[in-house]
Amino acid sequence: LRGDSLDESANHNDARWPRQNSLSMKEWDIPYDELKLFEVIGTGRFGTVYRGSWHGAVAVKLLHVQALGDDVTPLDTFKHEVATFRKTRHENLVLFMGACMKPPKLAIVTSLCAGMTLYTHVHLRRDKFNANKSVLVAQQLAQGMGYLHARGIIHKDLKSKNIFLENGKVVITDFGLFSVTKLCFGNNARGDSLGIPPGWLGYLAPELARALRPHASVHLPFSKHTDVYAFGTVWYELLVGEWPFKGQPPEAVIWQVGKGVKQSLANLQASRDIKDILMLCWSFHASDRPDFAHLLSTLEKLPRKRLARSPSHPVQLSRSADS
Ligand code: ATP
Repeated sequence: LRGDSLDESANHNDARWPRQNSLSMKEWDIPYDELKLFEVIGTGRFGTVYRGSWHGAVAVKLLHVQALGDDVTPLDTFKHEVATFRKTRHENLVLFMGACMKPPKLAIVTSLCAGMTLYTHVHLRRDKFNANKSVLVAQQLAQGMGYLHARGIIHKDLKSKNIFLENGKVVITDFGLFSVTKLCFGNNARGDSLGIPPGWLGYLAPELARALRPHASVHLPFSKHTDVYAFGTVWYELLVGEWPFKGQPPEAVIWQVGKGVKQSLANLQASRDIKDILMLCWSFHASDRPDFAHLLSTLEKLPRKRLARSPSHPVQLSRSADS
């Protein structure tokens, strides 16, 4: 996975100018003592997020780190991921400010997102997103994700919990961190069972569902295409207000997705164009999924008059003269 999240040119540069690279890594190293931590915002699989202060308000994700012993590989992975973060500057991506890179205190410092996550809007508050609003959100998502991919970075964990809405502006968080699970405990895999966070399965492309094994989440074959599949699921959440395969047991979801069975859209009242985007993103074969540049231009071309939630094949309910 290591090659996944860093583009070729960056690898090249690291090899050619190691000294310059280590200098620039230092620029992003924040001494842990300089951080002020306030209340816990929440705890996820990889760490605990605090509201903090470092030259202003920040979010600090303190990673749950296992004792590393003599094995420096996980630390290298973390540094490698930090190296990918510092390359990101886009208005739809959370601002990376630096990291604490001295074990056992490993942390990632980003701007503090205002507003709520899409998850909170859709699943907790049950806010409705009409088609126009859904398209605006999806366009910004496609823009941020297209930028990440152009930089050779795969998100690996795109989901509504990692998308903030700040006054209508989309801010994507948590990109590229998935490999850090190697460093973490308090994780989801226990014994021979597969621990699965709620809602996560809906974002897994068929090739990921087929590769699921206990303890193997970090070796999953993530790719740009698996990010596009996850984007499709966020698009579905916006339109329907639920995750796909709602209420079904994990084994049934894994089996269906792995076989290429898709969530039915029969009850989704939306135009054909809108459903087509969903079905393309959820294509069984990774190479059939569009890239984000293509998705963005498709979203921009959606005719406004067809954005209203109308059935794709409206039934004329007019009463006939002779009935
Ligand atoms: P998972 O680990 O499965 O991704 P998660 O997304 O809930 O779950 P975290 O990413 O660790 O876990 O986030 C924990 C909490 O902190 C969440 O409520 C999240 O919305 C919040 N959070 C994360 N980053 C920021 C940020 N930059 N600004 C404000 N809140 C944040």
